[in-house]
Amino acid sequence: MDRKRIIIIGGGMAGLCAGAYLQMNGYDVTIFEKNSTAGGVCTSWKKGNYTIDLCIHWLVGSGPASSFYERWSELIDLNEVKFVNRDEYFRVEDEHGNYIRVFSHIERLEHEFLLRAPEDEDEIRMFTHGLRCLATFDMQTEKAPELANLWDRLKSFIRLIPYLGTFQKYMNLTCRQYSERFKNPLLKKVMQNLPGPDMGIIFGMITLTWFHNKTAGYPIGGSLAFSERILEAYVQLGGKIVFNADVHKILTANNTALGIELVNGQRHTADYTISAADGHATIFEMLEGRYTDAELLKFYRTAKRFPSLIFISIGVRRKLSRLPNMTLIPLPEPIIVDPETSVNDLIIHTHNYDPTLAPAGSTLLTFMLETYNYDYWNDLHRHDKRRYDNEKARILAEVIQVLEKRVGDVARYVEMTDVATPVSFRNFSGNWNGSFEGWLMTPETGLKHLSHTLPGLQNFYMCGQWVAVGGGLPGVLLSGRDTAQIICHKDGLRFEADKTLVIA
Ligand SMILES: Cc1cc2nc3c(=O)[nH]c(=O)nc-3n(C[C@H](O)[C@H](O)[C@H](O)COP(=O)(O)OP(=O)(O)OC[C@H]3O[C@@H](n4cnc5c(N)ncnc54)[C@H](O)[C@@H]3O)c2cc1C
Repeated sequence: MDRKRIIIIGGGMAGLCAGAYLQMNGYDVTIFEKNSTAGGVCTSWKKGNYTIDLCIHWLVGSGPASSFYERWSELIDLNEVKFVNRDEYFRVEDEHGNYIRVFSHIERLEHEFLLRAPEDEDEIRMFTHGLRCLATFDMQTEKAPELANLWDRLKSFIRLIPYLGTFQKYMNLTCRQYSERFKNPLLKKVMQNLPGPDMGIIFGMITLTWFHNKTAGYPIGGSLAFSERILEAYVQLGGKIVFNADVHKILTANNTALGIELVNGQRHTADYTISAADGHATIFEMLEGRYTDAELLKFYRTAKRFPSLIFISIGVRRKLSRLPNMTLIPLPEPIIVDPETSVNDLIIHTHNYDPTLAPAGSTLLTFMLETYNYDYWNDLHRHDKRRYDNEKARILAEVIQVLEKRVGDVARYVEMTDVATPVSFRNFSGNWNGSFEGWLMTPETGLKHLSHTLPGLQNFYMCGQWVAVGGGLPGVLLSGRDTAQIICHKDGLRFEADKTLVIA
């Protein structure tokens, strides 16, 4: 019997995962990726003797306490990956040298918060009570929500019952709103950054429970080494990938997707087409906005996105072993990122926990300065390249100055620097305005994801961080897996998630 052919646009983690599951189920998959590497933003790059790591701060499912452990294990052998579970997640400092540490273990975290902010005891105890309650919460990841029947929904609801009170209490609060309940200024700042002012505090709380349960480790070797494992699994399952293949258009006839056209004019057809690339480009450029409805348009108009970044990397010929993993420090003067953006705090990310990223005796540091002002950076890049370069150099110099002040005797040991802007993010990933992770998970979005299909278009699917609200590697793995399940269901096939079941 002829195997059905599937084209996937984009070889990021979502495209690779969808492809791997579809290969397991007997489909013949080809991924078209515009870059010369796979993995999308789950990437790293070499500069001098350093490996700059962009993505993975933590990987949910690195340990068995989360059902994502089973999901990753369907694709790769997690025993072959060395994970580091850090005791301290991050710390927040003030200008006088006071700090609060956010520990991974709930008891230690509670002790630290009570010690440093006794004036907030009642709120702290309520918070840690919530964490203890959520510590046993796990997401349903086995079946695509679109395929859930009444019984599945009932089971999901019953599983949720023990957590409903905690969800109700925190679900509608952003981190910024929740932080207002605390009197201690440092603890306020901790809450605001757990994970970000506009995001729901409940997601920050769930993240803390993943740390506590040792299921959000960092894989030694970094992001590209990890995404290469998924690429290898996909290729071993018989999947094909075409690099440097920039998709320009999705071909349709009679409201049915027929395949793709590349920028160079080549056409490729398939039984099903999946886009695992940027959502905005897919819907409004590759499909020219022909398959939307009021709800989807409203979401794209109003939902909040992750910003883009000025991503700065610095290699220092000194082992800065006393610097914690992530430290948020206040800036004496704000750093002006662009005319619409300035930052008052800076997070110093020290990558010492991974010795493969820097030469012996040296340290890799990275900094993420957020901005929504893609147009400014794009204009500079297009029309005034000299100023674009000067602005990059200015921000880098200011960051080094801050580092010199906080750490001392660093500037003269700097031997590698690298600055990526929103233009770099957009050019590399194709993501809308250089967003680094798709849609923000806010109280308005809750845990709801977008549909894997578009209104009125047959044989076409979408997966990845523009469908899985909140983005993140486990989210996009699941989005790819769900898409494969939905396609199997349409074809009357029983979905298999077993990498030994390759149909040659
Ligand atoms: C700085 C940073 C930190 C992060 N930290 C974490 C973390 O700690 N933990 C975590 O779980 N997640 C983290 N994430 C998020 C996570 O990396 C992403 O959500 C996930 O990798 C997105 O995968 P994706 O496949 O959906 O999208 P992408 O990675 O954007 O992949 C899309 C792919 O499509 C390709 N493409 C685009 N347009 C076209 C076209 N026209 N033709 C052909 N190909 C095309 C792109 O080149 C790319 O390869 C982080 C991301 C960043 C950037």
